Amino acid sequence: MDATVGIPPVVTEESEAFWAAAAEGRLLVERCADCGAESFPHYGICRMCRGRHIEYAEVTGPGRVYSLTVNHQRWLPGLEVPYALVLAEFPDHPGVRVLGRLRGCAPEEASIGMRVDVGFEPGPGGFAVPSFVAAGGDA
Ligand SMILES: [Zn+2]
Repeated sequence: MDATVGIPPVVTEESEAFWAAAAEGRLLVERCADCGAESFPHYGICRMCRGRHIEYAEVTGPGRVYSLTVNHQRWLPGLEVPYALVLAEFPDHPGVRVLGRLRGCAPEEASIGMRVDVGFEPGPGGFAVPSFVAAGGDA
């Protein structure tokens, strides 16, 4: 896949820390300093208590596939299909789910509950975007 295909993300005050960490290969989620709830994507406000004292927590994985879809549609010129798009969740980060492409296995081998490692790949506009690597085994 030509990873530069797509629309570059808009960097906001809320998501600036996320993109900066992503460039270093680190996945940051928001953590509320008031109630401890974690959330993703970054909103700058707690989804639980509406607090605005936001800290960050690093998600190092592995995670599990919560849901997935296999895209067969060439939405953009240069987009290689098919590929699996997964929503991953993490045992140590309840409430957080992160969307990304799945690499390291054939799209049809992707399954709910499979283990995935956190990774990044080059995205539109030179931004590193989350993607996941099949970790093997779904025990
Ligand atoms: Zn909170």
